[in-house]
Amino acid sequence: MATAGTAFSFSFPSLTAAVASEDPNNHGEWDYDQNGPSMWGEIAPDFKVCEMGTQQSPINLESKSAIHTQLNDLTFDYHLSALHIVNNGHTIQVNPDHNNHLTLATDKFDLLQFHFHHPSEHVIANEHFPMEAHFVHRNSQGELAVVGIFIKEGRENHVLKTFWEQMPEKKGPSRLVNGHVNIHQLLPNKKASYRYMGSLTTPPCSQIVRWIIFEEPIEASSEQIQAFAKIYPHNNRPVQPNNHRMIIEG
Ligand SMILES: [Zn+2]
Repeated sequence: MATAGTAFSFSFPSLTAAVASEDPNNHGEWDYDQNGPSMWGEIAPDFKVCEMGTQQSPINLESKSAIHTQLNDLTFDYHLSALHIVNNGHTIQVNPDHNNHLTLATDKFDLLQFHFHHPSEHVIANEHFPMEAHFVHRNSQGELAVVGIFIKEGRENHVLKTFWEQMPEKKGPSRLVNGHVNIHQLLPNKKASYRYMGSLTTPPCSQIVRWIIFEEPIEASSEQIQAFAKIYPHNNRPVQPNNHRMIIEG
């Protein structure tokens, strides 16, 4: 069991459901409207934890209630990659080829995919950002580490621009992204983060995620944010009860 250089430990139930959730053909009929977050627990037996779980995500993050420590344990090994982009009916997702990694303490995770939410799912002191990107990683034991990056309104983002120009407006199969993109350039400069144990923010809401939420947002232009919002006006799950979970900041 990896402990990421911190004092908490946790157990990981089956990953089968989490992997299934990445398959656009394998969803129950959930969405962010009629079959929205308050209904998810009723849609399928596998989704029960969305309703009953006590370690659900996203949550509100506040410096004043976090445990402060020095966390220099993240190494991103992201490269120029061939990428596929897909509108899976819930978000715009990008799937890289398999040479991108995150090392968390001594634990190596492969980057599986990244995707976007509008507005942000996590909030800082109850404030949303316009968007949030989630970089989903998995290690050889099947444990997940998801890096959350807030997106605020500012300058045009040239990395996002490549994706946005090829963003499928309707749900459909994935397409090869034209042009190679160095996704390392999507990361903020400062690596200070909040860490906590939580869940997938979409059904089946499996409580298997080590969350790493960067404090420093990246920027996108208001036009870029609006272009995403035109496809997904609100694909964010509301904030879930913290239930006295430990949040580490460092
Ligand atoms: Zn997400």
